[in-house]
Amino acid sequence: MALVVQKYGGTSVGTTEKIRNVARRVARTYDEGNQVIVVVSAMSGETDKLVGLANEICEIPDEREYDVLVASGEQVTIALLSICLKSMGYEAKSYHGWQIPIRTDNAHSRARIDEIDGKNILADLEKGTIVVVAGFQGVTADGSIATLGRGGSDTSAVAVAAALKADVCEIYTDVDGVYTTDPRIVKEASKIEKISYDEMLEMASLGAKVLQIRSVEFAKKYGVVVHVRSSFNDNTGTLVKEEDSDMETVLVSGITYNKNEAKISVMRVPDEPGIAAKIFGPLSDANITVDMIIQNVSNEGFTDVTFTVMRTDVKKALQIIEETAKTIGAGGIKHDEKIAKVSIVGVGMRSHSGIASKMFSVLSQNGVNIEMISTSEIKVSCIIDDKYTELAVRVLHEAFELDKINVTSE
Ligand code: ADP
Ligand code: ASP
Ligand code: MG
Repeated sequence: MALVVQKYGGTSVGTTEKIRNVARRVARTYDEGNQVIVVVSAMSGETDKLVGLANEICEIPDEREYDVLVASGEQVTIALLSICLKSMGYEAKSYHGWQIPIRTDNAHSRARIDEIDGKNILADLEKGTIVVVAGFQGVTADGSIATLGRGGSDTSAVAVAAALKADVCEIYTDVDGVYTTDPRIVKEASKIEKISYDEMLEMASLGAKVLQIRSVEFAKKYGVVVHVRSSFNDNTGTLVKEEDSDMETVLVSGITYNKNEAKISVMRVPDEPGIAAKIFGPLSDANITVDMIIQNVSNEGFTDVTFTVMRTDVKKALQIIEETAKTIGAGGIKHDEKIAKVSIVGVGMRSHSGIASKMFSVLSQNGVNIEMISTSEIKVSCIIDDKYTELAVRVLHEAFELDKINVTSE
């Protein structure tokens, strides 16, 4: 008997008919002789609605109560799915995060899972009960509900699979697996059969929202093989797993884009020791994450420093940087929210040269200006004007022949 964890995302439980479909799939897995834990998200659009309600009341809602609110979407789906399974004659039981419990730290709205106590769930599984868990939520040491960040049900599922040493961890969504790029943008995108944890981590952190980044971190840390697949068909999806030798032969595995960043430039900064600490220290003290940074060559003792932050942080960042600019005697500040980050990702880049330069020339041949560049061992990212995002993704996908490398369907 295998222990199977299945996670169904918002679009897979978006209507009561879709919840019935999920119940049938869960029942089939159970009937095949498995123990089943199902992790579900809120019905699609519900979490956005709840976030909107909080923001109607107040611009910066109290974080404890915000989590009580946004976690409620998952309460609806665990109940509906359990009701459905029971009406079909199966023993099923719903669980909130706190009822398991899934223990987290205190960082409301972006909490990290510290520990999962599997005792209660295991007792139910032993009795033949199908366990239905609310994704996205856990409980802090003082008993408050905490949520895990948008898309966090993926992390709930992988963490439960790791804690209970599940044999299978399946993430069901509205696409057949992880694609070479977002299939909503490039219809020729190919399904990737298997992808390493490191590549998936880069893809997720650079904008491929098919898996939450933390879920991949968990999977890598505990060696959980994650199968990303569709809840609307039985096609084999994508395996996210440890790197193997044939993965290196693919130079570029995927292209991602992210329109959630903004660029800030501090002009005519005195070029002297300690200046970077003076600019970035106050931002980090305010919990603002800075992504890319470039500093121009010094000219007569002055330089320009440009960096990117999340668009949601830009107002706060500008307030802070205006103060800093005064104290360090900078010449001025500019900012631009209409930017996008386009990236190519692949473990094959480690052992092959010329990939970055090919990316730059493809963009330039298509009239796309590169404003900033950052690289790691397995990725190259460029900041461009956001009106060219779709074009850039499409021409890069074509230039690296990503439509040709994999088989898309059975
Ligand atoms: P769920 O509600 O199941 O959690 P999400 O909306 O969070 O689903 O993630 C699935 C979506 O991710 C897909 O509909 C697709 O548009 C998008 N996506 C972005 N990049 C990729 C990619 N490289 N491969 C597959 N899907 C991607
Ligand atoms: N319902 C939450 C969200 O929309 C969690 C999830 O779907 O994974 O972000
Ligand atoms: Mg998701």
